[in-house]
Amino acid sequence: MHKRILITGAAGFLGSHLCDRFIREGYEVVGMDNLITGRYENIEHLFPLKEFSFYNHDVTKFIHVPGHLDYILHFASPASPIDYLKIPIQTLKVSSLGTHNALGLARVKKARILVASTSEVYGDPTVHPQTEAYWGNVNPIGPRGVYDEAKRFQEAITMAYHRFHELETRIVRIFNTYGPKMRLNDGRVLPAFIGQALRGEDLTVFGDGSQTRSFCYVDDLIEGIYRLLMSDYAEPVNIGNPSEISIAEFAEEIIKLTGTNQKVIYQPLPVDDPMQRQPDITKAREILGWEPKIDRAEGLKRTYAYFTSLSNDELYNKDHNNFEKYIIR
Ligand code: NAD
Ligand code: UDP
Repeated sequence: MHKRILITGAAGFLGSHLCDRFIREGYEVVGMDNLITGRYENIEHLFPLKEFSFYNHDVTKFIHVPGHLDYILHFASPASPIDYLKIPIQTLKVSSLGTHNALGLARVKKARILVASTSEVYGDPTVHPQTEAYWGNVNPIGPRGVYDEAKRFQEAITMAYHRFHELETRIVRIFNTYGPKMRLNDGRVLPAFIGQALRGEDLTVFGDGSQTRSFCYVDDLIEGIYRLLMSDYAEPVNIGNPSEISIAEFAEEIIKLTGTNQKVIYQPLPVDDPMQRQPDITKAREILGWEPKIDRAEGLKRTYAYFTSLSNDELYNKDHNNFEKYIIR
């Protein structure tokens, strides 16, 4: 019998890459998504496969999946700051009620569950780089609190199921990841800059651009998640690429990559935007034997090739003009 895995958030950026990976590994994959920030296009190539099935379902409602399940990957949740500012209540619900439902399902099915947490649990960190032992610096009532606190609750309830019900659980703390299948208009910095370059607009750097991020190529992340799922380690593990860059320098890299003649323009920094972020991946190295292999130059080349293959409809989708009203500065 095939191993069977449920992937929530299957039509999203990471969920769709995970579906591809587990299909390649010979699993039967059950995808679930309500398409609130995902796209059918990310997984439509899987629909003809008998190893793939899909439920259009909101995981904050009771989850029913017939048949056995060996694993659950709970990845449903908006992930871009613009998305979670647009749909704050759904964001709170999916990582709280949705995680509760996913854990309950895992218990009934005797399945191992891995939940997608985030570097946002560290908030605007005062410890650098961030180790898993750091408890974070999060503003619970700020605009980003809807995401950060829901993810912190997700970690708490996952550990409670692990300790109280002895459920097999895994927690991955994902740092900024990029690659093909990101939504061009999701507001995250990489699609934002590439979209602007392709449309012939200036690149909008928020703040003075000195804030840093550390970008991980999606294939590296997926490998880390796969190894963590197969490991016997229940505490949170950072997965990300420690190569750190300021947003101003990143904008220059995108200008070079795309060959655009546009310039950088500066806009005020959104409230609670973290000033620095870099994963300490000692644990991932030691426990999973994992580290990233694809550097930013290569990862950006592959990602740019994907974005240039998209239609003009997508490039000029009106959503990209609507960001401003959601950002709280
Ligand atoms: P995404 O928005 O592309 O994908 C999320 C998917 O979840 C979407 O397809 C969306 O429709 C679905 N979804 C949302 N709410 C749902 C609900 N109630 N029921 C069913 N489906 C629902 O985002 P992503 O970048 O693929 O992120 C996936 C997961 O990884 C999220 O949990 C996110 O918090 C986490 N994460 C991502 C990053 C990153 O850099 N991409 C970083 C840290 C954490
Ligand atoms: N950012 C920017 N211009 C944009 C979009 C984002 O300067 O058009 C900045 C944002 O303020 C943050 C960084 O880029 O400092 C990364 O933002 P993103 O939304 O990708 O993710 P975050 O790491 O903040 O969750």
